[in-house]
Amino acid sequence: PSKLFGEGRENSTGFDLTDEATLARINAARDVAIPNAQPLTVGAATGELVEVRNPATGEVIGSVTEADTATVQAAISNATLWSAPVADRANALRCAADLYEANYGTLFAILAREAGKNLPDAVGELREAVDFLRYYANEAERNTTTPRGIITAISPWNFPLAIFTGQIAAALAAGNAVLAKPAEQTPLVAAFATRLLHEAGVPASALQLLPGQGATVGAALTSDPRIKGVVFTGSTDTALVIRKAMVQNLSPDAVLVAETGGLNAMIVDSTALPEQAVRDIVASAFQSAGQRCSALRCLYIQEDVAPHVIEMIEGAMDELTVGNPWHLSTDVGPVIDDEAQQQIADYIAAASDRVIHQLDAPTEGHFIPPTMIRVGGIEELEHEIFGPVLHVATFKGSDLEKVIDAVNAKGYGLTFGLHTRIDSRVQEVADRIEVGNLYVNRNQIGAVVGNQPFGGEGLSGTGPKAGGPLYLPHFGKPEAAPVAG
Ligand code: GLU
Repeated sequence: PSKLFGEGRENSTGFDLTDEATLARINAARDVAIPNAQPLTVGAATGELVEVRNPATGEVIGSVTEADTATVQAAISNATLWSAPVADRANALRCAADLYEANYGTLFAILAREAGKNLPDAVGELREAVDFLRYYANEAERNTTTPRGIITAISPWNFPLAIFTGQIAAALAAGNAVLAKPAEQTPLVAAFATRLLHEAGVPASALQLLPGQGATVGAALTSDPRIKGVVFTGSTDTALVIRKAMVQNLSPDAVLVAETGGLNAMIVDSTALPEQAVRDIVASAFQSAGQRCSALRCLYIQEDVAPHVIEMIEGAMDELTVGNPWHLSTDVGPVIDDEAQQQIADYIAAASDRVIHQLDAPTEGHFIPPTMIRVGGIEELEHEIFGPVLHVATFKGSDLEKVIDAVNAKGYGLTFGLHTRIDSRVQEVADRIEVGNLYVNRNQIGAVVGNQPFGGEGLSGTGPKAGGPLYLPHFGKPEAAPVAG
């Protein structure tokens, strides 16, 4: 049960993949025809027709009409605040949550075929999306503010339903008008979800969808003075481009909420329980094919236990199945596209003399074999590798503080994992490490809405944390007195 959701309001229970009726419904949706995506705007929409492909097979699964500049301008002109009373807004968002859950078969099929999500990841993603809808609905009723105006929501392909929905739900709960630009790779799930939000009662002029390229749609939506805020999840570099565009073109009070990359580390000391640590290492590094900004990138193992723990990680890696995300036995699906595959493969090839362990992966489709690479320390990592690549370093017990300082020195600050059985060490690390989310004796991915607010500092983002009580107030006017709901 959730602590922050309040009495009787709990997180989505999700879907049981061992239940036969559930599985039958999922299987029935497997080959469902996915509706094409187009701008969902008030008024005429035009743009270029682009194919959408399955990252696992390369097969064309649909098409998207990418909005042109005229369509974006018209959408901005036609946007209206959602002026319904807060209780009505909250109820519409809750209704959308129910519609999302009711459509799980189709949503899983789209998530698998468009984003390469395996079924457990698809279940987790749908739960998170539903949680965001219900959580921000509840929060809006608890703490009503005055809307800022038109908010641009730019979401990533790695959580094309959950983060897409979370950004929109927060902005809408606060009564704003939203212009949503989904990632180029994942417009289909965004369009499907937007239709459900409209069906649930969100007015078409309060939520418009503008699929398209960052260079055109994204640029227009972050440099028009009528925009009063931007909520963004994606790379640190793009966040800086957005900030610059906003500073140059938007009014000084426009808000930026950005959740960006990470170079996340974990420490396993010699008191840790190896079986538990290994399970959590493998999940943190390889689940979702490592395509989470929270994922473990650099593991530090205390040197006296390192050979043993590394051998156990190799054994656990050997148990992973890499392949078609739709098969229930698949642990690691594809990476998102050609470009990602090429970049990660080049990186691994350049580090080939330091590869400790590597699995096989299908040669057709955009697969990267889960790979473990030896490094001296995190200072050797130049940037985030957004795939199933785990770097491993060892450390001397007396150097713990130096390790933490080296992690802090990279300038990111998203997640950190600690495996230890020394109680005082937990506090010691918590006091020194500069991250948004510190996880102790568990994996470091999969923050739960309402329980583990998620977000970083430094190069990892602006805060406030998503799924926590400080998020929604950023979508209201800062000086406005709370008004009765
Ligand atoms: N919220 C996700 C997690 O806790 C990560 C979000 C992201 O990768 O952008 O794993």
